[in-house]
Amino acid sequence: MTAKLTLPESPAIAPALPRTERGTSVCFVVDDEPGIQNIIALAAKGFGMRVECFANAAKAIAALDRFNPSLVFLDVSLEGSDAIDVIRGFGAAGYRGAVQLMSGKDPVTIEEVRRVGERHSLVMLPPLHKPFRLEKLRMLIDVHLKSPVPKAGGGASGLTAKENDTRIDLDAMLRKNYIEVWYQPKIDLKKMQFAGAEALVRCRHPERGLLSPAAFLPDADQSLMIRLTEKVLLTALADWPRIAQAGFPFKFSVNVPVCVLSKLPIHTLVRDHKPDHAKWPGLMLEVTEDQAMRDIPLLHEVATQLRIHDILLSVDDFGTGYSHLARLKELPFAEVKIDRSLVANCGENKENASLCNAAIELAHTLGMTAVAEGIESTAELKTLIAMGCDFGQGYLFAKPMTRDQLLSSLARHAGTRA
Ligand code: C2E
Ligand code: MG
Ligand code: MG
Repeated sequence: MTAKLTLPESPAIAPALPRTERGTSVCFVVDDEPGIQNIIALAAKGFGMRVECFANAAKAIAALDRFNPSLVFLDVSLEGSDAIDVIRGFGAAGYRGAVQLMSGKDPVTIEEVRRVGERHSLVMLPPLHKPFRLEKLRMLIDVHLKSPVPKAGGGASGLTAKENDTRIDLDAMLRKNYIEVWYQPKIDLKKMQFAGAEALVRCRHPERGLLSPAAFLPDADQSLMIRLTEKVLLTALADWPRIAQAGFPFKFSVNVPVCVLSKLPIHTLVRDHKPDHAKWPGLMLEVTEDQAMRDIPLLHEVATQLRIHDILLSVDDFGTGYSHLARLKELPFAEVKIDRSLVANCGENKENASLCNAAIELAHTLGMTAVAEGIESTAELKTLIAMGCDFGQGYLFAKPMTRDQLLSSLARHAGTRA
C-alpha cells in the first residue's frame, strides 16, 4: 500500500441517493436565541434552502407576505411573544407548509402547543426537544425535502392515512432483510492512502428505492437501534475478510448510539464473530459528542472493556455538541471526527478554519487522532493537511458505496500502484 491516491476530478462513485430539486425551498426559523438560529440556518443552507430568521411572532407573520416557506422551525418562547401567537397568525394566513416545534420546556407543554397548531389547521411535525444534534436537524430537513408535506388533518389530502405516512417501518425492514451496509473510505492524509472505512446503513425499500438513514433512524426506538447496530456490526465483521484479501486489512468504523453501547454486549459479539485473521486490526466505534457527554463514568467503564477486545471509541460530529472543547479530555476516546459543518469551506472561511485547527490541536494534545468529515474540495483538503489533520473522509475521495463497489475501487487503486 505504498502508491498514493490520485484525487478524482469528481467523485468516482455514483451518488448514493437521488438528488431532489431543492433550490427554491424557503425555511423560517422563529427563535429568539441567535445560537439556535445559526445552527438551524447552517443545516438548512447545507440543503440549498433559503433561510429567514425571526426573533418574534409579528415579524414572522409579516414575512408571509413575501415568502412561502415549506418549513417553519418554531420555538415555544419568543421575544415578547410566543409560539401560540405565531400559530394564530399563520393559521389565519392559511399557511400550508410544515411547522417544526422546538423547545426545552416540558413535553406536556410542547404537546399542548402542538395540539393548538392542529386546531388552527397547521401541519404540526412531532416536536423537537432542545438541546438537539445538528445531525438530527439535517435528518429532519432531508426527510422534509424528500417527502411531500402531508396536509393538516390527515384525510383532507385525499390520501389514506397509510399513503400519507412517509415513515419507514424499520422493524419490518430488518425482518425482511432490506437493511444494507455501505462503506465510505477513510484516507490517511499524510500518506494519501486508504486507511479505513466507515460502515453506513442504507435501506433498500421495495417501493421507495435506496433510502438514507435520515428516512428511518429518527423514529427508531432503543430496541430497534440495538437490532440495527447488531446487524451493521455483524455485517461489517463478515465483510472485512474480503477487503483484507484485496490487500487492505484496514480498520472499519461502526456508528453506535451510547444507549446501545451500554445494552448490547459488543465485546462478546466481536469476540465470537471477529475474523480469524492475523492482520485483523480491531474496530472503531463512533459515538456522537452530545451523547458521550451525558454519562462519562459509564463510557469509561464500557471503553475499558472494549479496549481489551481491540475496540476503540471515536467521538463523531465533533464541534456540533453543546460541550466545551476542554471536556474532551475527560472522555476515553482514541479519535476525534470533526463535523462537516466545521470542515465546510475551511479553505476560505476563517472561523471554520480556526475551529478545525483548534480541534486538531486539542486531539493531538490529548493523544488522539483527528479525522475531518465531509471534505468536498481540494481547498479544504489542502488546509486540513497544512493543519496536520491525520485522516479525512468526504465526497472528494469517494461517496459511501456497497462492499463490492469498495472492492472494485480498492482493486483499481491496487492496480495503479502495481
Ligand atoms: P455520520 O456518522 O457523521 O456519517 C457521515 C455522514 O456524512 C454520512 O451520511 C455520509 O454519507 C455523509 N458524508 C460523507 N462525506 C460527505 C461529504 O463530503 N459531503 C456531504 N454532504 N456528506 C458527506 P449518511 O450515510 O446519510 O449518515 C448520516 C448519519 O446517520 C451518520 O452520520 C450517522 O449519525 C447515522 N448513521 C449512519 N449509519 C448508521 C448506523 O449504522 N448506525 C447508527 N446508529 N447511525 C448511523
Ligand atoms: Mg459516523
Ligand atoms: Mg459525523
